[in-house]
Amino acid sequence: MENIINLLPDNVANQIAAGEVVQRPASVVKELLENSIDAGATEVKLIVEDAGKSMIQVIDNGKGMSPTDIRMCLERHATSKIKNAEDLFYITTMGFRGEALASIVAISEAEIKSKRSEDELANLIKVVASKVTKQEPCTSPNGTSISIKNLFFNIPARRKFLKKNSVEGRHIIDQFERIALVHPDVKFQLYQDGEELFHLEHGTFRQRLVAVFGKNFNDRLVPVQETTNIVSIKGFICKPEFARKTRGEQYFFANNRFIKNHYLHHAVQQAFEDLIPKGHHPSYFLKLDLDPGSMDINIHPTKTEIKFEDEKSVYAIIRSSVKKALGEHNITPSLDFNRETSFDQLEKNKKLGLPGISVDPEYNPFSERKNSSGITRKMDYSAVNPAYSTPVDHWENLIQNTDSELQPSMDFETMENEFEQNASLVSSSETDSSSATQDKIIQLHNRFIIIQIKSGMMIVDQQRAHERVLFERYLGQLAQGNGKAQQLIFPENIDLNPNDADLLNELIPQLRCMGFDIDEFGKNAFIVRGMPTEIKSTNALDVIDGIISNYKLNDTELKLDGRVNLAYSLAQKSAVKSGRKLDKPEMQMLIDELFACENPNYNPAGKRIIQNQSLEQLLKSFE
Ligand code: ADP
Ligand code: MG
Repeated sequence: MENIINLLPDNVANQIAAGEVVQRPASVVKELLENSIDAGATEVKLIVEDAGKSMIQVIDNGKGMSPTDIRMCLERHATSKIKNAEDLFYITTMGFRGEALASIVAISEAEIKSKRSEDELANLIKVVASKVTKQEPCTSPNGTSISIKNLFFNIPARRKFLKKNSVEGRHIIDQFERIALVHPDVKFQLYQDGEELFHLEHGTFRQRLVAVFGKNFNDRLVPVQETTNIVSIKGFICKPEFARKTRGEQYFFANNRFIKNHYLHHAVQQAFEDLIPKGHHPSYFLKLDLDPGSMDINIHPTKTEIKFEDEKSVYAIIRSSVKKALGEHNITPSLDFNRETSFDQLEKNKKLGLPGISVDPEYNPFSERKNSSGITRKMDYSAVNPAYSTPVDHWENLIQNTDSELQPSMDFETMENEFEQNASLVSSSETDSSSATQDKIIQLHNRFIIIQIKSGMMIVDQQRAHERVLFERYLGQLAQGNGKAQQLIFPENIDLNPNDADLLNELIPQLRCMGFDIDEFGKNAFIVRGMPTEIKSTNALDVIDGIISNYKLNDTELKLDGRVNLAYSLAQKSAVKSGRKLDKPEMQMLIDELFACENPNYNPAGKRIIQNQSLEQLLKSFE
């Protein structure tokens, strides 16, 4: 019988291995930036074109490579960072496997220039799909420049699966930020399609955070510092009031390497317990320093999941040091000596002349805007954060924690039939039956609306119902572009981080359809002159921030498509919340509007809006 086993040629083996290291352009960015850091660079420039699909270039002023090394670095398992397996336990560099470059050059057209300070000339090497096509001396400054063109050009199936530029671009920014944040001593620049997106000068960790996330961040940060013999923690948490529903600004760095660790995330979350509403995530930027021998970074090729030897202790130390920082911040909020002050004057100038913000706890989104003069700007706090709405009692808490899916379920078909009856019953508004229901409508625990119907009663979740109503309205407006704007008395300038700014720029045309009067106003900055009439908050930053958070969350968790996602994100932001007291006409209006919807049964996230309880069932339960 013939032998059938072949050894794969190197270039094929490299291509296959590349699949593990290089998932998308952002993976290349990560590897190249890490190599520059490992090479001791103090200045690193990242240039990307077409979201990295046509070109990714990293230029550094690091130690460079010799003419032999520049060729060697392309080989699999070629690394200058470890010599034997034992070294694996004492890694202090970002890379160590020696497979990144070999993988990357197997699936692209690469050009590497490098010069060590002791050499007179630089060296240039060109590689196409692992094949060296040129190597020659050239002139170039000290350091290394690597450019990767046409990634996946020889694996069309992979290239086809790349997402649109906005998505791939965002991944690149994420990777760039993860590395730039934790190396504030290195100057970083990021150019995207010829435009400088980041220019980060050398500075402190705090200055770097502010430079990346915007000057608003300066006032949010609370320092955390703790030294123990297991781990040292240094960094910042954001004040509890800036917790968000979307995760996004949760950064752990272990020995200067960005890591993801759900268990340790939970430690921070625990420390914030009771200070932030359920479902919100605190922002944090915590650098952990540990003995490299006590953690295992070798368990995943992209090296973000890390195991710790003594994870329980690390958990406890993180939790208590964050708690301590929160406590200190509460007691002595102004004694933050570490505060970065250079932006304060700028902030002050910007604030001059802006009206004050007062809070109206009685505010009701259904009632007409009473203070339309806008002299005092009302801020709808409960829209920002349900925890700020009317005090929630014990029962309310209990109910909020009850998932609708856990409630006694109903025969679906009977329910559907009921709906048809109800719909005709309620939506024939001015008729007798409608006014009959009007008398028999009550609100329960400021969360549910209970309506008497012919066959029994109907229980409606007010927040979900309103989300459905607004969602369908916004979808219609998106199709027709006829959303109505209410002009703000004071147009508001808002600054966003580059990632969110990118996303917002993409959404602007659709936001206009829904009634936003919004324009880009400088780099990562926008001006909002008007918002849809249903939005009662006049705090544009809060509204835009809320929409962006919702949008990102709906994108990742519900996989909602763009238009549907945006309509739902705005509906979530502007809907009446659980915990809000409604009067009878408001309830009636909501119910009427709900039954005028195409799909009154479920909210856009697929959660049930209505439960019916038949008289029959009720009577049975008393037998
Ligand atoms: P690793 O980083 O795991 O060692 P890589 O494939 O990323 O593997 O890089 C291989 C080798 O090439 C590195 O060990 C290093 O010696 C060299 N190298 C890569 N990039 C640079 C750079 N920007 N400056 C200097 N040397 C570099
Ligand atoms: Mg490397």
